Amino acid sequence: MIMFRDTLKKWWPPKHQKATDDPAPPVAAAQTTPDDGSIGTESTDDMLARALIQHGVPSHRDGSAHVLPGDLRLLLVLEDHPSTTPGNHVVALELRAEGPRTDGIVVSSFAAGFGEGRQIAANQAFMKMLLSAFHVFLDALTEHTCSQCESAMTRWSGNDATWTAYDGAVITQQTGSSALLDTYLTHAWPALRRLFEQTQPKGLHWIGVFVASFHNEVQTVEVLLDSNPWPDATDLLSRQPWTPGFEYESARHFVIVMPEGNA
Ligand SMILES: [Zn+2]
Repeated sequence: MIMFRDTLKKWWPPKHQKATDDPAPPVAAAQTTPDDGSIGTESTDDMLARALIQHGVPSHRDGSAHVLPGDLRLLLVLEDHPSTTPGNHVVALELRAEGPRTDGIVVSSFAAGFGEGRQIAANQAFMKMLLSAFHVFLDALTEHTCSQCESAMTRWSGNDATWTAYDGAVITQQTGSSALLDTYLTHAWPALRRLFEQTQPKGLHWIGVFVASFHNEVQTVEVLLDSNPWPDATDLLSRQPWTPGFEYESARHFVIVMPEGNA
């Protein structure tokens, strides 16, 4: 496991947002474990409930789901991943959303967390989720508006469809200044958008991007489209003119692409 000091930075667009995930930390298959009460304090469900209150979004619980106005149902799934570094805990946190505005489709975003113990790892994963995907979900899938929730909205045009893209902040994690961000914003993301517009059918879509570099090389590129690997996009991003730094760095980005008319 690569060790690094956490530096979460919020970037573009001006106000905040969303995310991506930390899909694949270098680990084997995930295993779901029951809540480990020993680490104690706030569960990610409690954190989500608190974040909704802070945004003035009414919600109630129905089983493990958080039900929002418009019958949007949010579900958090926290998984523990084995870590090869003693004392280091790794979790993957998934936020799922489903409701009339998604036509019953489950939209999902991942964030990973690392730290000394499960609570610290879960807190970090939730914080990444909160900075990016959380706002994108509220912006794209609910009527909620607030000064914190202003995803960049862009109109995209395909062969037979138009969409509104709700674009979350690119979240980077690194020790110094970001060596990935400029290339991502200048080259990678515009290229990815073009690929989407040229190839995707009409309807609801969502995109999650994860890029990680270490020792002056891009080590991981992952692009998920509708929660599935998108190999053409991964190839495209791998061919961008990255200038990665020596220290570990990661960048994540999450976008919901709503069919025009539903937005
Ligand atoms: Zn808000």
